[in-house]
Amino acid sequence: MARFTMKFGGTSVGSAEAIAQVVDIVGDHLGQGRQLAVVVSAMAGVTDMLLDSASAAASGRQDAYMEINATIAAMHLAVIDALIKSPSDRDAIRAEVNELLKGHRELCEAVSILGEATPRISDALVSFGERLSSRVIAAVMAAKGLSVRQVDSNDFIVTDNVFQNADPLWDETESRIVDGLLPELESGVTPIITGFIGATPDGILTTLGRGGSDFSAAIFAACLRSDELIIWTDVDGVMTADPRLDERARVLPYVSYQEIGELAFYGAKVLHPKTVQPIITRDIPLRVRNTFNPAHPGTMVGARAQASETVIKAVTGIRDVSMLTVSGPGMLGVPGIAGRTFLATAKAGASILMISQASSEQSFCFTVVDPLAQNVKEAVEAELRREILHNDIDSVDLLSDIVIITVVGAGMRGTPGIAGRVFSLLGERSINVLAIAQGSSECSISFIVAEDDLERAVGELHTLALETVENDRATGLASPY
Ligand code: ADP
Ligand code: ASP
Ligand code: MG
Repeated sequence: MARFTMKFGGTSVGSAEAIAQVVDIVGDHLGQGRQLAVVVSAMAGVTDMLLDSASAAASGRQDAYMEINATIAAMHLAVIDALIKSPSDRDAIRAEVNELLKGHRELCEAVSILGEATPRISDALVSFGERLSSRVIAAVMAAKGLSVRQVDSNDFIVTDNVFQNADPLWDETESRIVDGLLPELESGVTPIITGFIGATPDGILTTLGRGGSDFSAAIFAACLRSDELIIWTDVDGVMTADPRLDERARVLPYVSYQEIGELAFYGAKVLHPKTVQPIITRDIPLRVRNTFNPAHPGTMVGARAQASETVIKAVTGIRDVSMLTVSGPGMLGVPGIAGRTFLATAKAGASILMISQASSEQSFCFTVVDPLAQNVKEAVEAELRREILHNDIDSVDLLSDIVIITVVGAGMRGTPGIAGRVFSLLGERSINVLAIAQGSSECSISFIVAEDDLERAVGELHTLALETVENDRATGLASPY
């Protein structure tokens, strides 16, 4: 019997109408005799509101967090009222929702007494979003006669203690899921699981990072040995560009694990960057589909490196990054400067999004997210203090108001001249490129331009991508179906 894991994102569970749609989709798959595990996000907007409630509480603004609590209450109660008819069923789920909301208020109160929301407390606070949505959705499904059980993922996903960006401890997680969830699934019960949340071995709540429900779903798909993972979202699939940036964006019928990894890492919000990690070694196909247009087949993600002759498949952009440049005449041939710089960056808590070195070896630059940039600059300057003092290194320059643009496509490997085409196009349009990096996988090229050039650069390169995607369509190469 086919076994699927599916995940519904925030917009997909964002209202009573959307949840009704989710119930139909799940019912439809169960009707086809499949075993299902369902992972759900918080209702759209709720995670942001919960984070706001944390800062409101930390600064003692009780009115603000109480208002947020009331808004979240109203959202969930409206779904219950719209979709659950039996008074006793309604009362039961209302009581559960109210109990959780009381927990949220109490935690906010504790934060306001402490005067700060540590990452650990913040994780506990945002966890209410998924804990609420999963319960309401499970109750709606049960009321519609589906055999479901609400499941808290913190009982199964065991993580390290990196709050707000935790990683699973695989062996423990897998054995808990196999022992605790698989038998139930095999007996025909569909677990409705909280996305986003895990817990340390001591049971302290953690989260997998913003957008992390995709990753949760992939973890369950891998451990349950699913035949397919479906990420249900609010667009028809993975597209040639962010449809919010360029309305010409088209759905890609097929992308490889590697391509989607690059796309997600470089800013395509449609999937969390870690989503493919758990499924890639097990070769579990992933499909991205639209909850609001279930007739569309969506995008298939799989192992084949290249299902098409498309060279550039998609273009992405990341805002809110800064570029740091380390340069100086004394760097030539001095080993270890890059290593020390990157170590200092890591110690300042930042991960590096892109690195580029000029061939002269007299400078290199790298990018980090804006909020950490100043700290990183200071940490690197402290690390290289001696070299700066001796004028071997001039300075560590910080440039904000820049963006990283990435073009992705496995067909670039072994297709000479792509980088040349990309950069001459940008040159012709007078878009100044500040730094370039090509991933070692050769399936992406990233470069930095001024923030003001973002839309123009994405637009120009997107035109290039659309041309080749169209060629594929014409030759029938793009279709995996
Ligand atoms: P969910 O709540 O379902 O997880 P997200 O908002 O996290 O949904 O991700 C879906 C959104 O990602 C889309 O609405 C779209 O605006 C955005 N997006 C950015 N880049 C792309 C892309 N290349 N293809 C598809 N969607 C993209
Ligand atoms: N609710 C979480 C977020 O908004 C996780 C997710 O939706 O994937 O980041
Ligand atoms: Mg998402």
